[in-house]
Amino acid sequence: MTRYDISRSQLAELLEGEPKYRLDQIWHGIHGQFREPEDLTNVPKELRSAIRDLLPAALTPIRNISSDGETTVKQLWQLHDGHLVESVLMHYKDRSTVCISSQAGCAMACSFCATGQMGFDRHLSTGEIVEQVVRAVQQSQTKRVSNVVFMGMGEPLANFDNVWPAVRRINSDLGIGARKITVSTVGVVPGIQRLSLETLPVNLAVSLHAANDKLRNQIAPINRTYPLRKLAESLQAYRRAKNRRVSLEWAMIDSLNDSQGAAQELAAFARPLGAHINLIPLNPTPGFEGGGSSPARIAEFQEQLESFGINATIRSNRGTDIDAACGQLRAEHIIRPSKRRKA
Ligand code: SF4
Repeated sequence: MTRYDISRSQLAELLEGEPKYRLDQIWHGIHGQFREPEDLTNVPKELRSAIRDLLPAALTPIRNISSDGETTVKQLWQLHDGHLVESVLMHYKDRSTVCISSQAGCAMACSFCATGQMGFDRHLSTGEIVEQVVRAVQQSQTKRVSNVVFMGMGEPLANFDNVWPAVRRINSDLGIGARKITVSTVGVVPGIQRLSLETLPVNLAVSLHAANDKLRNQIAPINRTYPLRKLAESLQAYRRAKNRRVSLEWAMIDSLNDSQGAAQELAAFARPLGAHINLIPLNPTPGFEGGGSSPARIAEFQEQLESFGINATIRSNRGTDIDAACGQLRAEHIIRPSKRRKA
């Protein structure tokens, strides 16, 4: 059992025989105060050592790389079985956001995405997900981590059973507001349906990238299982159940999905959902030949969407030079496990 996989009741069992208040001291110390067990100075030294040994950290730091004048930090972690994952901490003027991984690798095989090009290793546990946020807070020091986005490696809704408990913990134990947590999906309809049943008001972002089935089948193969019509139905149901608007992510790929016709199709998909669009300049990855749309084309595409009555924002590109931007996480390191299986 790792440090952030243990539940409060399991910790209570572990502390049997200790004064009752120790449970709060330790639980709050490692969650609310983001402290290492050895730094819990209000707890006797022997107990601190026992907690450290019984509840080891799940993430071993391999390396941190900074970019954008130290405002973007990519963190590479090794898991207990040798798999590697990455998270990215980004400081902005008004907030600090950590982008976390939900799986080692990904089975969704989106054509432009470095993680998709790796294939799938395994789901992350709840504790492995939560700990990425704790580590980001520790790394962040003076700047408070205010936002969490599940847009790192993996498809969060394909690992719903571990992701959702992690969301709850990030909210209740780490103290990050539900509206500051964004779960993304490439369109796993059963996961969207499950999310509709949850009461915690997190944000949902759908990586759309194409609004006709032919092109979407090519860019995001999950579309062959859950085509656009099914995706739209599930998003309508989500909107009715939650009374919350979704956002649609659109990686701008030169001459593939950046035409006026593509803007028209996107507007037609977004309008009934009342969705907001985020346009993301495509980031280079080794396994994808296509290039990103030019800044001028992206601006034009945004104007076209707005002329169709759809609000769109151009997302600033962070960490491109350190492969930390959207779609670039690859967790490369010489100790990477060589065996890989597809989900
Ligand atoms: S874009 Fe997301 S869902 Fe698609 S392959 Fe990459 S990590 Fe997986």
